[in-house]
Amino acid sequence: MNIFIMGAPGSGKGTFSSRIKDEFNLNHISTGDIFRANIANDTPLGQQAKAYTEKGLLVPDEITNKMVADYLANLTDKKNGYLLDGYPRTLDQAKAFEQMTKGTDLAVDVVVAMDVPFDVLTKRITGRRTCKKCGAIYNIYTTPPQTEEICDVCGEPLSQRKDDNEESLKVRLDEYAKNTEPVIAYYEEKGIVKHINADRGIDEIWSSIQEALKN
Ligand code: AMP
Repeated sequence: MNIFIMGAPGSGKGTFSSRIKDEFNLNHISTGDIFRANIANDTPLGQQAKAYTEKGLLVPDEITNKMVADYLANLTDKKNGYLLDGYPRTLDQAKAFEQMTKGTDLAVDVVVAMDVPFDVLTKRITGRRTCKKCGAIYNIYTTPPQTEEICDVCGEPLSQRKDDNEESLKVRLDEYAKNTEPVIAYYEEKGIVKHINADRGIDEIWSSIQEALKN
């Protein structure tokens, strides 16, 4: 099964991606994580993406599409499919992806849309903390670690993403409304979108996702 998970920043894509990929044994590809790793390692791709991601702007389509194409070309372990998290985010990316995967077994089967009202997202984003070592995600307001700012799983100090501030969030939400909502509408026309009410408790959201994907 090949899945896109889509939703505004803070809608829970990262948290539930890690559960979905384990439950269904999928390759997990997060374009945001790939950009962050490249920026941290100061690679040529990281240097191209840095100014955009720090401001909350989308990285240009040519750069992003090439990165995804390279990733797919080097995907040797196909598992039961993939879970693409954070891509496509524009109609051009959606169309480029269709071209890239035409005639292969990599076409998308289902789009999971994580629906959360915009006013809830600010608290989620400004409270978000992540562990750079194991990838665990916390929220200091709703799901704090047992010891302040320390990862429960591996004991590392937690970090806050550079773009998780109110100023950049505003730009990211604008980008989402302008560029990404039309992508969901595009897949809705194809009849492959599963909407999840992601403004609930973690267990309820997880049950809805499992049900949507098992059907
Ligand atoms: P995320 O971790 O998904 O919130 O992505 C963090 C940042 O990476 C975004 O704000 C963009 O700057 C960049 N990014 C991630 N995925 C894409 C994409 N599909 N297209 C353009 N930029 C992206």
